[in-house]
Amino acid sequence: MEAPALEVVDTDLLILGGGMAGCGAAFEAGYWGRDRGLRVTLVEKAAVERSGAVAMGLSAINCYMGMRHGENQPEDFVRYVRNDLMGLCREDLVYDIARHVDSTVHMFEKWGLPIFKTEDGRYKREGRWQIMIHGESYKPIVAEAARKAIGAENVHERLFVSHVLTDEATGRATGAVAFSVREHKVYVFRARAVISSAGGATGVFRPHAVGEGLGRIWYAPWNTGSAYSLAIKAGATMTQMEHRLVVTRFKDGYGPVGMWFLLFKGKVKNAYGELYEDTQQKAIAPYAPYDKVRPIPTPLRNHQMLTDRAEGRGPHYMRTDEALQALTMGLDPKAVREIESDAWEDFLDMTMSQALLWASQNIDPAKVPSELTLTEPYLMGSHSSATGAWVSGPEDLARDGYFWGYNRMTTVPGLFAAGDGVGGSAHKFSSGSYTEGRLAAKGAISYMTDNPGTFEHDPARVEEITGELFQPYRVFEEAHGSSTKEDINPNYFYPKQGLHRLQKIMDEYCAGVGANYITNEPTLRRGMELLEVFKEDMAKVAARDRHELLRCWELRDRIWCAEAHMRHILHREETRWPGYYYRMDHPKIDDEKWRVFVNSRYTGNDGGWEMSTHPCHTLVP
Ligand SMILES: Cc1cc2nc3c(=O)[nH]c(=O)nc-3n(C[C@H](O)[C@H](O)[C@H](O)COP(=O)(O)OP(=O)(O)OC[C@H]3O[C@@H](n4cnc5c(N)ncnc54)[C@H](O)[C@@H]3O)c2cc1C
Repeated sequence: MEAPALEVVDTDLLILGGGMAGCGAAFEAGYWGRDRGLRVTLVEKAAVERSGAVAMGLSAINCYMGMRHGENQPEDFVRYVRNDLMGLCREDLVYDIARHVDSTVHMFEKWGLPIFKTEDGRYKREGRWQIMIHGESYKPIVAEAARKAIGAENVHERLFVSHVLTDEATGRATGAVAFSVREHKVYVFRARAVISSAGGATGVFRPHAVGEGLGRIWYAPWNTGSAYSLAIKAGATMTQMEHRLVVTRFKDGYGPVGMWFLLFKGKVKNAYGELYEDTQQKAIAPYAPYDKVRPIPTPLRNHQMLTDRAEGRGPHYMRTDEALQALTMGLDPKAVREIESDAWEDFLDMTMSQALLWASQNIDPAKVPSELTLTEPYLMGSHSSATGAWVSGPEDLARDGYFWGYNRMTTVPGLFAAGDGVGGSAHKFSSGSYTEGRLAAKGAISYMTDNPGTFEHDPARVEEITGELFQPYRVFEEAHGSSTKEDINPNYFYPKQGLHRLQKIMDEYCAGVGANYITNEPTLRRGMELLEVFKEDMAKVAARDRHELLRCWELRDRIWCAEAHMRHILHREETRWPGYYYRMDHPKIDDEKWRVFVNSRYTGNDGGWEMSTHPCHTLVP
């Protein structure tokens, strides 16, 4: 293999991942950094205009308080998030997002994002926290602002970031290494502070759809958990990595259900026409006091559906037919068309494949109900889920162990996190993730102001990483031709084959769909053994081209996420979120012992992980 070209880029603030959080960070850093003469650089593996979980567009902004009209206050939001997470959230982080998120949304509108309005000029709400948008161009609008803020020349696209660099003496984050997915080239970025905003993880678990449908999942298939793997490898403390997201979605098409539930007041009924949320109230009684919370926490709603199904009362249907008929009854045809166009836009904005699926199955949602099901698990810090780095909160909300100098800084000095990358604070969604990027950027600029100085990278370390990066090419070159069929070779496997292996382990041993979300300690321990063997075998992962090289590194990301997830689930000896997963050897919630955060830290080359717990403070009564 030819040696790759090497390019070194010097900057002050380095942002890894140009999704919602990364664009928010770039916008804010551009603003504050301009007068201070700071260079801000953003690195993205795809193209910022259409990257990340918002790539396809969205039909709603799911986090907006509406404080200027007195609609909600940050305290209300904290209570809501705490309940949905069944008691466990970093209230300082949640409050911090809530108090700033409205200003973010107002900027989006100023930049041209069309937002539905009511007759009195307020944003039209889909639900208490959600507002409706014409969001097919959401990401391009946000990306343009980021590009303008830091200068187009400082946005590096089509580069996959594989490692955060740290200074051995101080432990401080000093940059990152990336490889180009278009050229045979390695980039070394030297920076004074780094923000990790490279998104959550899909594909860690076997999805419902296999074979040709493999990529058909709810969450963006290109998000592979880099925000977690980069932080873990750099030695950052992680939190809530046992948490996960499992949501109810239209079966197989994964179309959004928010508008049907919230705006159209659609009801989900089981095969016998019963409202399972009512008939299965008994199923959640053992999880008091969270059974009385309204809205019912997401995992408990899942638990009700799973119980109903186990009792033989599935499938479950969203009664789109009944909802639309009730809404349009007695209206003139123009008004009916308006309601229907809102309904269809919800899908055309963000999940066109749902419309195709309906067409292929002869379903007209105005006349026929549609099946719902629970998704495979995802790791995500910004939805109804809270995996991510353990970060410092803002100073004014500091509590014991919640603040160490700079907002959103991880436990690695100079390494900040945002969006899906931050743990313990769910329900940020697109607007909250963007807001958190802004907060992280401000924190990082204060950090750089207080901690001047530049760093040289150890060339031996960079060389070592470069060697690792292209190892899959060498594996293929050396073993290629040693079997009669390229795809079957005892000396290597392809990343897609590796992905199937990972997903099988996670599905069967770590409470995936195939295991009905159930596990226990012996099952987890066996899964960990299999994961260890798989990690050893990863020395044999092979790439034939640049595309497969990217897939090899995405697989590595997912393995890091899988290991963290398993270790955390093993550590938390209770079932805190039934409906997300069940530890059947500890089937109850144990608030006395486990209303704490489970934290972990990868301790380096010895392969060790330190597990710990941290108290969860209540800030909002
Ligand atoms: C299907 C779906 C529907 C949603 N619906 C809504 C909704 O209706 N309303 C709402 O408000 N929110 C919604 N959300 C939530 C919202 O999209 C996320 O909260 C938000 O995008 C998280 O921001 P982020 O920056 O952390 O991650 P992302 O926006 O996903 O950005 C991560 C970025 O990092 C890049 N990246 C990843 N790995 C690397 C690497 N190794 N090197 C370089 N770059 C990398 C990615 O390409 C991407 O650009 C939805 C999410 C999904 C998945």
